Amino acid sequence: MSFSTLGLSEPIVNAIKDLAYREPTLIQQQAIPVVLSGKNLIAAAQTGTGKTASFVLPLLELLNNGNTVRAKRIRALILTPTRELAQQVEQSITQYAKYLNLSSLAMYGGVDAGAQKQALIWGVDILVATPGRLLDMAHQRALHFDELKMLVLDEADRMLDMGFIEDINKIIERLPTQRQNLLFSATISEQVRALAKRTIDKAIEITV
Ligand code: AMP
Repeated sequence: MSFSTLGLSEPIVNAIKDLAYREPTLIQQQAIPVVLSGKNLIAAAQTGTGKTASFVLPLLELLNNGNTVRAKRIRALILTPTRELAQQVEQSITQYAKYLNLSSLAMYGGVDAGAQKQALIWGVDILVATPGRLLDMAHQRALHFDELKMLVLDEADRMLDMGFIEDINKIIERLPTQRQNLLFSATISEQVRALAKRTIDKAIEITV
């Protein structure tokens, strides 16, 4: 199994080659075709399984092929529980998108919002954010989600453990209802299941 047989195109496959990944991991083999098909996905996967690439790679593929939407408007939103994870995911995006013309931003609290606001003004295709700072920025009318096509909830169980449920609900209320949803969680607890039920209908479920 190779990354190109999973349906990823040359600029993305070349970026993966530069990183010397030999073959897709199990979660990547299962998740990439589902995401490329446009379906909703609920995936139980731990850190270290290659889960980040399993949603970032097909997300880049879909955004790169989307010719009906306007560039440099937020088309994908990835919510993460912590600043560290937001930074890590954004760094992965930068690596995988090195041959694509897509911009990304990591947005998190605990730092001055000025630089993040400026980046939003320049234009961002993919926003990786922690829930609290994202809501702050949304309240300041610095964020527009009218072009949003994809929502990713990364480490959903940790976000719920950290008490982000209300923030997540408020964020989701601001998003267009027509969108693709991906949820990743180390374990699919009752709480995660309830969140998924409220926000995602008809999802494919995978466990690795
Ligand atoms: P994650 O589970 O997303 O935290 O990824 C764990 C690590 O695996 C990261 O450092 C990735 O760069 C690396 N990785 C992801 N996919 C592959 C792959 N197919 N082959 C080798 N390493 C990978």
